[in-house]
Amino acid sequence: MIGNITKITEEISGELIEMSEKILNRPELGNEEYFACSIYVDILRKYGFQIDEKYLGVETGFKAVYDSKKEGPTIAYLAEYDALPGIGHGCGHNILGTVSTGAGIVLKHLVDDIGGNVVVFGTPAEETCGAKVEFADKGAFNDIDIVMIAHPSNAYSKSGTSLSMEALQFEFRGKTAHAASSPEKGINALDAVINTFNNINALRQQIRTDARIHGVIPEGGEAANIIPDYCVARFYVRAKTKSYLNELVEKVKNCARGASLAAGTTLEISNYEYSYDNLVTNETLSKVFTSNLEKTGIKRIFNSDDSLGSVDAGNVSHKCPTIHAYFDITNDRNITGHTIEFRDSTKTEYAYNNMKKTIIALVYTTVEVIEDEVLLEKIKREFEKTEK
Ligand SMILES: [Zn+2]
Ligand SMILES: [Zn+2]
Repeated sequence: MIGNITKITEEISGELIEMSEKILNRPELGNEEYFACSIYVDILRKYGFQIDEKYLGVETGFKAVYDSKKEGPTIAYLAEYDALPGIGHGCGHNILGTVSTGAGIVLKHLVDDIGGNVVVFGTPAEETCGAKVEFADKGAFNDIDIVMIAHPSNAYSKSGTSLSMEALQFEFRGKTAHAASSPEKGINALDAVINTFNNINALRQQIRTDARIHGVIPEGGEAANIIPDYCVARFYVRAKTKSYLNELVEKVKNCARGASLAAGTTLEISNYEYSYDNLVTNETLSKVFTSNLEKTGIKRIFNSDDSLGSVDAGNVSHKCPTIHAYFDITNDRNITGHTIEFRDSTKTEYAYNNMKKTIIALVYTTVEVIEDEVLLEKIKREFEKTEK
């Protein structure tokens, strides 16, 4: 089987490379990826996928489905294709989207025999307000059996964890007054902000070591001689599990509530960006993928660095068994993501070679899941019992 997968991957590799380079040469920011989206949609349609464009109301999102009309699980690959301001595809999403789309096309050639359905999701704006959050909320992954994504990096590494995150905004409203001549007539919104920070700093001593709280004051008043009547504080609250994040968010909100009460302001609490769930790696699936990468000749696969950042694939991993692994495109550990050097690494022979190997391992893993009911059961059991 792996021979067959390799053969199909080789056959379409010219098209894949062309696609990755076209997108590299025309970078688009999150939610503006009309060109990249159309490139993927066109090729998937050409290979017989049914396309749902502007999926769930996301302009540059899509869902591409190939149904074998035979019993079997539904497997999804996630494509990303947004770029960064200034440096274009410094995160390598041009080659990421191509790997996911390529894996979908290769698998499509096999499912008529082995059964199951193939889905490629086009998931815009990973760098800003990730569409996967909206897709997950609206049920996109409820009928998917497994989800896989491989992100370009400076080394191969296994799927790990990332922190769950909530973006909290506190708006305090008080009353202006002359700060020198009639301060007693004012209600100081800045005091509420400062006390919120102080309360949170005290809270820090009582939180788990792997949690993070960090904030800024986007609005802190106009002039020193006017009591500020409107001030805003914004925080990211991060934790290793969603359940602990929820606990912590409530405590942080109480810090603001207490500060507001003390200052006499009103308080409005909102989320100023999407909240990301922590990434829960399905270890059973991850092991199969790692061993299949080794079969393609990849020798060094690092254990995951548990990331203290947050990714939108986290939200997917709370809905169904997921892996978010990394593949090497640089052959140099000094070249890191979000740089021009990393961007330029996406168009090298080395990167294209590993692109093919990664596609082969992704597809072979899927084939094993489709053909081995016991394995799929094990993956699902792990998903059900893992703490999220
Ligand atoms: Zn990035
Ligand atoms: Zn990225």
